[in-house]
Amino acid sequence: MAKRPKVCIDRVLPADRMRFQSTVRRGGTVRAIIPIGKLWMNGSTLRVRFIGGTAAQQAKAKLQAQWWTQFANLKFEFNSAPDAEIRVTFDSSDGAWSYLGTDNQGIPLNQPTMNLGFLDGGTAAHEFGHAIGLAHEHQNPAGGIEWNEAKVLQDLSGPPNNWTPEMIRHNVLNKYRVDQVKGTKFDPDSIMLYFFPGSWVKSGVGTHANEVLSNMDKAYIASAEAYPKTAPTVNDATALKVNASKRTSAAIGKAGEEDLYKFTVTTGGNHVIDTRGPSDIVMKLFGPDSQTSLIAEDDDSGVDTNALIRAGLIPGAYYVQVRHYRSSGVGNYTIKVQRV
Ligand SMILES: [Zn+2]
Repeated sequence: MAKRPKVCIDRVLPADRMRFQSTVRRGGTVRAIIPIGKLWMNGSTLRVRFIGGTAAQQAKAKLQAQWWTQFANLKFEFNSAPDAEIRVTFDSSDGAWSYLGTDNQGIPLNQPTMNLGFLDGGTAAHEFGHAIGLAHEHQNPAGGIEWNEAKVLQDLSGPPNNWTPEMIRHNVLNKYRVDQVKGTKFDPDSIMLYFFPGSWVKSGVGTHANEVLSNMDKAYIASAEAYPKTAPTVNDATALKVNASKRTSAAIGKAGEEDLYKFTVTTGGNHVIDTRGPSDIVMKLFGPDSQTSLIAEDDDSGVDTNALIRAGLIPGAYYVQVRHYRSSGVGNYTIKVQRV
């Protein structure tokens, strides 16, 4: 019998994009690449709660989740915390799927964020890849896959998937726009690529099922664009004072460096956090009192190529992560938080 493709669904929240700020460059040209904004704060500990599943299923999921943390600056803590960031069910009638990265924060706590309905090969590693913010490699706009759409629609609309044309488009056919992803060139060995048969593509050449992390997966997840181990963690965050009289001077001193700031809001209200200076800065805001809950991300809303985030903040502790837009970029900048 022919091998049936088991295609994973990554669940993208339709309203999610609204949480992120526009990154349209002044002058009207949209940037070629915009961070997709699903990554957790670097150095995060993500709690994982298994809901059901046998000891063997749980052990396999745990083992494969940790393939990532060997390279990524993230930790998984497996416990039964009711508010765990990642909540995994093992419902064999519901396929394999996961929400992406920080989207997990938007899921009601009484619902799972991942289902491992099957655990063939590297399925759990693939789903945990989604949970830490990775999208499907077959949807990489750099992939150049030309789908044989009629055949894909025909195969996936029947059993075992029984998907609607809309689901098939979302899960397989639609490529992310180049400006929605950050990433490398197409990687045919990525664990984030699913097996599909040659009949699904015009070239007639399908993919093989990848059951382990590829070299590019390992390099990318450990890179400055994702979760570098050399970056500061929350304990090393530099304190910023809201409405300080002077801007704080800093620099991305070497390629891939990441700066981390912490500030405390005592009086709720609208706040503006911005950078100034000659560098092309990308900024993410996390909180309140959470290193995993992303509030906003920005590239170019500030002066020139600087970042600016405007957000209504309630009292609590917030973290600001600053990187250079280019992974090879270095340069000076200043940063300030104001209540406006
Ligand atoms: Zn998937």
